[in-house]
Amino acid sequence: MNAIDFYHTMDEHLQSKFELLKSKSLNIDLTRGKPGADQLDLSNELLSISVPSHDENNVDLRNYGEPLGIRSARKLASELLSSPIELTAVAEQSSLLVTYQTCLALHLKGLENPLKDVSNPKFICPVPGFDRHFRMLEELGIEIITVPLTGKGIDLNALKKVLEKTDNVMGAIIVPRHSNPSGDVYSDENLMSMLEMFKNYSSELVCIFDHAYLLHDFDETSHQSATWKLIEETEMTNQAIVISSFSKVTFGAGGISFFAAGKELFDLVNHQRGSMIVAPDKVNQMRHALFFKSAADVKKHMQEHAKLVKPKFDLVIDKLKSLDDECGSFTIPTGGYFISFNAPKGKAKKIISIWDDHDYGINDGGGDFVNKYESQKLFLDFWNIPNNDVRHSREGLYFNELLDIDGFKVNLIVLDTRFFRSKLNSNKAPYIPNNNKSTTILGDAQWSWLEEVLQQESDFILVLSSIQVIPKEHIFEKWQLFPHERLSFSFFFSCSREQNII
Ligand code: PMP
Repeated sequence: MNAIDFYHTMDEHLQSKFELLKSKSLNIDLTRGKPGADQLDLSNELLSISVPSHDENNVDLRNYGEPLGIRSARKLASELLSSPIELTAVAEQSSLLVTYQTCLALHLKGLENPLKDVSNPKFICPVPGFDRHFRMLEELGIEIITVPLTGKGIDLNALKKVLEKTDNVMGAIIVPRHSNPSGDVYSDENLMSMLEMFKNYSSELVCIFDHAYLLHDFDETSHQSATWKLIEETEMTNQAIVISSFSKVTFGAGGISFFAAGKELFDLVNHQRGSMIVAPDKVNQMRHALFFKSAADVKKHMQEHAKLVKPKFDLVIDKLKSLDDECGSFTIPTGGYFISFNAPKGKAKKIISIWDDHDYGINDGGGDFVNKYESQKLFLDFWNIPNNDVRHSREGLYFNELLDIDGFKVNLIVLDTRFFRSKLNSNKAPYIPNNNKSTTILGDAQWSWLEEVLQQESDFILVLSSIQVIPKEHIFEKWQLFPHERLSFSFFFSCSREQNII
């Protein structure tokens, strides 16, 4: 078969494999913490439930008013949080919003002093933690002080040391149940000791409990008392708020959120909320109060979620269990939405480095990038490439190396698809192929070099390209943007077939 025939046969073969894969309609949504459609279906009744215009107290649900939420929804929330109804409010949409509103209220007013007037205010955040907590604290200029988790809550010794040596700790954000992402379920003792420490530290320190996974057990979970009860027992009601939502109970971002706090903090947060919204969405509150008549209904509903979620966790955990221990360790959660996998450090035997556009210095950059020589120097310096390496004395970073891998001789060929590449038709995708044969990806010097190094004797040739060789369809960078270069490239493949090119 000549090279051109080989090229077309290869493409046809790859295209048919690609079509076969597409026909399987595989569709995996890996978005972290996003409920599956089957879970959302459990609450479909909410889509058609008939909502009256007025509640049992004759509150007009269609109008403004009831800033703390309608009575029936507050009753449900207080049952779920084990908090007094008069200190429990029902809000809208998501718990993250109430968490932000709480942080903002502290920033602008605070329990005693507004955080904005405190020099370098700080919050305790157990880690690993939830990125969105970090983001909101950063936005408000609050320094994050991290304290490790132990598997059963916060590391109390580490917390003690931090509190001893740190001033102006004004708050903490704690996810007490199935913590994101480690899955920690805090023990009662741990929570109470932590609250005692906060109380002794300062009367201004506010502990925000983000109870996003309050109801999300899918397996037997270690005992944990209602957070509100522990707050009461430690006499921390004035300095603590518990926040939760139905985001992962009914509809993502379409549920209701709710919170409970001691009187002063409760008023502070509601005052802040009053500056931002006139009144919550009472129609949606009523929809939820009709759907769930009691906390027991919610718990029953969560058992249906568990039936859908648990097999998925079991599948992943079975796969993880089949790995060698040296691959790493992992958590086996009893609820929530996360498995943490901890890979050991420094397991790679060798790191092969070549730049792609963002290491090179410009998005989708090519040979016309003005700082390419400086980039090359920085790259060689960063990767500690020895001074006698050829990459120090020629343009571009292409190189090859003969490796012994398990007794096989491997010719590793690393291409530079940036340094010499001709300009693309535009400075951002969609890109269209350029058929002008004077344009290039590798450039003359690299092509000649490639021809030469392919002759070196080996069992395998392993070629690395930072842009995709095979796909022809998508609109982004790929070899097919210079079809004549892709053709030449596959010509090399065809000539070296007996050497097992990968
Ligand atoms: N808090 C934590 C700890 C979470 O993991 C999540 C969801 N990923 C949220 C809050 C968001 O929940 P909501 O939609 O109620 O804001």
